[in-house]
Amino acid sequence: MKGTLMATTASRSQQIIEQAQRYIPGGVSSANRLVEPNLVFTRAQGAYIFDAEGKRYIDYHAAFGPPLLGHCHPEVQQRAAEAMASIDVIGVGSSELEAQLAQKICEHVPSAEKVLFCNSGSEATYAALRLARAVTGRQKIIKFQGCYHGWHDAVLMNVISPADKVGQRDPLSAGMLPQAIENTLVLPFNDLDSVRQVLEEQGSEISAIILELIPHNIGTVLPHLEFVQGLRDLSSRYNVVLIFDEVVTGFRHGLGGYQAVLGVTPDLTTMAKSIANGFPLAALAGRADLLDHCKPGGDVFFAGTFNAHPASVAASLAVIDILERPESYATLFDLGKRMRDGLRAIIQRYGINATVAGFGSVFLLYFMESPIEKYEDLLRNDVEKFVAYRRALIKRGIYELPVNLKRNHISLSHTVADIDESLEAADAVLQELGS
Ligand code: PLP
Repeated sequence: MKGTLMATTASRSQQIIEQAQRYIPGGVSSANRLVEPNLVFTRAQGAYIFDAEGKRYIDYHAAFGPPLLGHCHPEVQQRAAEAMASIDVIGVGSSELEAQLAQKICEHVPSAEKVLFCNSGSEATYAALRLARAVTGRQKIIKFQGCYHGWHDAVLMNVISPADKVGQRDPLSAGMLPQAIENTLVLPFNDLDSVRQVLEEQGSEISAIILELIPHNIGTVLPHLEFVQGLRDLSSRYNVVLIFDEVVTGFRHGLGGYQAVLGVTPDLTTMAKSIANGFPLAALAGRADLLDHCKPGGDVFFAGTFNAHPASVAASLAVIDILERPESYATLFDLGKRMRDGLRAIIQRYGINATVAGFGSVFLLYFMESPIEKYEDLLRNDVEKFVAYRRALIKRGIYELPVNLKRNHISLSHTVADIDESLEAADAVLQELGS
């Protein structure tokens, strides 16, 4: 019968994988989800994920970042459930929780004078770029090699490029509009001179500069303050809309995002992932005079059936309440530091050619020496070792995504004991792998 699996002696995981691969291309609904070992996780709680056979893993992949407080956080889940019990979806008019959340974001995020909500980071960056094109009347944008801003045509290029594609156009998908690809200029991160030069030559054609303030899609590359400040100055001088993509860094590195840490304010900010701890929610925030173009009847169209969904908005308000407690970021950052310090001690002990990177609750180990200032530097990373290290950790119950350059996330549910257990595993694996 169609849809019925044959009775089999395969494990529960194998059965699920078989069924998924029969009916879903590749068995997954997002490009980066199919990795070896191909595991099926059926439960997530706090700092842990459990596979279909019930094995527990300390989770640092964290679904690319959302569960900042930990998986299935009880306070967040309860607030979302309460909201859903009152009103499940909003089809018309303003909503109370949405207004409260917008106010909170404007209070915390330096660039936020007004906010619009949608469902994913890609939608937010898409809307930000459309708005930038509308207000400038220009078509080109500048992005940076190594930064990921979602799946739409204007930005889906030059993230993790092979050496021969760095500085060339490197679209990540077939079917992208050639005009969109041509209108995107890709420059090296932390290199203000190259931005200055492009603006001198083509400034009147550039609508936006978009960047991950910390390019976390290639691990952690910290920005030079002068670079970000320089982008701010050049954007103002050339009337270019400066967009900070804080989809990863928003809330994770502080309620004000990493812009509050750096003290540089963009025109527009995009946020998603951690802002609702696992519920689908994204925000486009920024200057009121820009955002007001998007009001109904304005010249920029912004819409979505599920935008500002009550469950996600209530979840986000719960996340903010918890992050506003003074101990929250101190705990997160202490755990991150403990992990990075511990890894540093291990690589020193065994004389391993590796660099510990990260910020706040984010960490990873590159198998290469520093300095790391732009994507090109990461071409020196020993990919084989990077992946082998993580696969060995997975065998020991520590889940770091075994894919080149992927960052790890610590949550408020991780404990000192979790970090120490992970460091013990790292010690054993690194000793085995050797220098
Ligand atoms: N921007 C950044 C910095 C991201 O890391 C991502 C996703 O990983 C996106 C945008 C796209 O967000 P989403 O996957 O929610 O569409």
